[in-house]
Amino acid sequence: MKSITDNLCKVRQQIELFAQEAQRDPAGITLLAVSKTRPADELRRAYEAGQRDFGENYLQESLEKIEQLSDLAICWHFIGPIQSNKTRSVAESFSWVHSVDRLKVARRLSEQRPVNLPPLNICLQVNISREDSKSGCLPEEVADIASEIASLPNITLRGLMAIPAASNDPTEQQQAFAGLATLFTGLLEDHPQLDTLSMGMSGDMAQAIAAGSTIVRIGTAIFGPRDYSNKTV
Ligand SMILES: *Cc1c(COP(=O)(O)O)cnc(C)c1O
Repeated sequence: MKSITDNLCKVRQQIELFAQEAQRDPAGITLLAVSKTRPADELRRAYEAGQRDFGENYLQESLEKIEQLSDLAICWHFIGPIQSNKTRSVAESFSWVHSVDRLKVARRLSEQRPVNLPPLNICLQVNISREDSKSGCLPEEVADIASEIASLPNITLRGLMAIPAASNDPTEQQQAFAGLATLFTGLLEDHPQLDTLSMGMSGDMAQAIAAGSTIVRIGTAIFGPRDYSNKTV
C-alpha cells in the first residue's frame, strides 16, 4: 500500500525528466491522477502523498467517491464520455470536464453550472486519430465549436484534449500529439487565453510532454492495473 506513494513519486520524477528533455518548465505540467475503478481509500492515500487533481470516467462511481472524500480539497476532473441527459451532476460536482465534444453538451453544462461556483473549466475533446469508435469532434470542426463554447457563460474554455489511437509505434503517437498541438496553436490566434493541452497517459507520457502537454492523465502508473471484472458501466 506504500506503493501508491512510491508510484506517485516516480511519475513526478518522470515528468521532471521528460520536461527537461523537452526544455520545458516542469511546473507547466499538471499531473492528473486517473482514479476510475479505484476505491476511495486509494485516492485518499494519493491525496496524503500530495496529489490534488483526480480524474474520473464513470459518473455514478465518481459521485460516490466525491461524497466519500468531501473532507479533502480535491480538484475533480471529469474525463469520460458524457451523455447529454447526465450533464447536471457533472456541472454541479466537478471543476473540470475534459471530454466535451459537442456544443449541445457544452450548452447544458453552461446552463446547469450552479452560479455560486466558479465557471466550469472545459477542454474540447478531439478525435485526433479519426477512429470510428472514439468520442471527440473531428479536427476540422474544432475552430467552430471552440468559438461557440468560448461565448457561453458559466464555463471557461481552457483548451483541447485527445486520446490518440492505441499504437506501439512512438512515431505514430508523436504525430497524433503534434496534430493536436498544431490545432491548439491555431486556436490561440482567436482565443489567446487558452492554456491547456490535455494529452498523455501512462504509456505515452514522454511523447505527450515533448509535444507540449500541460496536463498528463495518468492512471496505471500510479494505481496499478485496473480490474473491470465487477464493473457495471
Ligand atoms: C483511463 C484513462 C486514462 C489513464 O490511462 P492509463 O493508461 O491508465 O494511464 C487517461 N485518460 C483517459 C480519458 C482515460 O479514460
